[in-house]
Amino acid sequence: MEKFKKYINEIKDFPNEGIVFKDINPIYKEPKTWNELMMPLQKLISTTKPDYIAGIESRGFISASALAFKNEIAFIPIRKPNKLPGKVIGVNYKLEYGEDRLEIQQNSIKKDFKVIVIDDLLATGGTAGAAGKLIREVGGNLIGYAFLVELTELQGRKKLDSKLFIESLIKY
Ligand code: AMP
Repeated sequence: MEKFKKYINEIKDFPNEGIVFKDINPIYKEPKTWNELMMPLQKLISTTKPDYIAGIESRGFISASALAFKNEIAFIPIRKPNKLPGKVIGVNYKLEYGEDRLEIQQNSIKKDFKVIVIDDLLATGGTAGAAGKLIREVGGNLIGYAFLVELTELQGRKKLDSKLFIESLIKY
């Protein structure tokens, strides 16, 4: 997976001072490379057979919806505050850079159906942890997480349920 790092740009002090932002957009402009990178996640979906793939706004939507569409699996958006209509459940969480809140539509998941959460990058784990909490609060059976990139030094995995699978493709 090291070979994919040349498609990731590092932008210093974005969006805040002290953050080295990993820009993975160049991967999406190389369809064959993106496809090759995603193969382990494709296999993971085939073996774990989730009923839903949940993507975290907004960069998580890209790969989550691509996998959902390809595999004909339902897609669920987990979004920033005040974006989803109807009854929503929300949770506040800490970010590597600040604080935020995520929301999910209340009736989005059939009880005990299997859900995998996908995001572009795992940093401190606050975002993914909050998304997992939301899945459980609306009655879903959270089976695991998948990320394109993991910043291992930040130990985000420790914030996630260790009984679940936590897959990441490119590790820093
Ligand atoms: P965290 O909650 O700390 O695990 O942060 C993960 C979320 O913030 C993901 O949705 C990422 O898109 C974004 N994020 C955090 N740190 C970075 C970074 N260094 N580069 C790119 N995205 C980041």
